[in-house]
Amino acid sequence: MTARTHDLAALTALGAVVIFEPLRAMTLSTVLAALLANQIGGIAPDIDQPTAPLWHNLPAGKFFGKAFDKTMGGHRFLTHSILGLALFGFLVHLLLVFIQPLIPHVNTGLVWWAYMIGMLSHLIMDSFTKEGVPWFLPIPAKLGVPPKKAWRITTGGAIESFIVFPGLIVVDIWLVVSHYSHLLILVHNYIY
Ligand SMILES: [Zn+2]
Repeated sequence: MTARTHDLAALTALGAVVIFEPLRAMTLSTVLAALLANQIGGIAPDIDQPTAPLWHNLPAGKFFGKAFDKTMGGHRFLTHSILGLALFGFLVHLLLVFIQPLIPHVNTGLVWWAYMIGMLSHLIMDSFTKEGVPWFLPIPAKLGVPPKKAWRITTGGAIESFIVFPGLIVVDIWLVVSHYSHLLILVHNYIY
């Protein structure tokens, strides 16, 4: 899937979790940091692609992108597996613990969850594409839904652009409209 679909899917997944989980109080800083972490998590697995947006925007990004690609075993490898999810989850946890003194008003535990929800949504979304996802590395088999490759969608193709992406927007609108009073309570009483 393309980066914009991944970011929308990450936001949709986060929204669904917020709506279906019991409400909890959090600071506005936590909300903003969680949204940012969620969007980063949504595209993080694709840093194994030398063409990833991150590498485009960095000086000497092409070089580092290629080097990183090799380290991670090429596209759709370590970063697209449960092992990679655990590894990145651990590294992000360490990073959050390290920067916590700089951001005392942020609940980094919630930020971590927002990151993980974004990253997990990436693996789920990529499972619907032809390439599949090596979920159970070091077992290298790339799995997908549906299991038959020909029935899966092409990254950046018409089905992604005209069905998956608009479909996610419809899901988001439905989530907001059908849980509107719940969201209002969240905004009014739980965010400070
Ligand atoms: Zn991917």
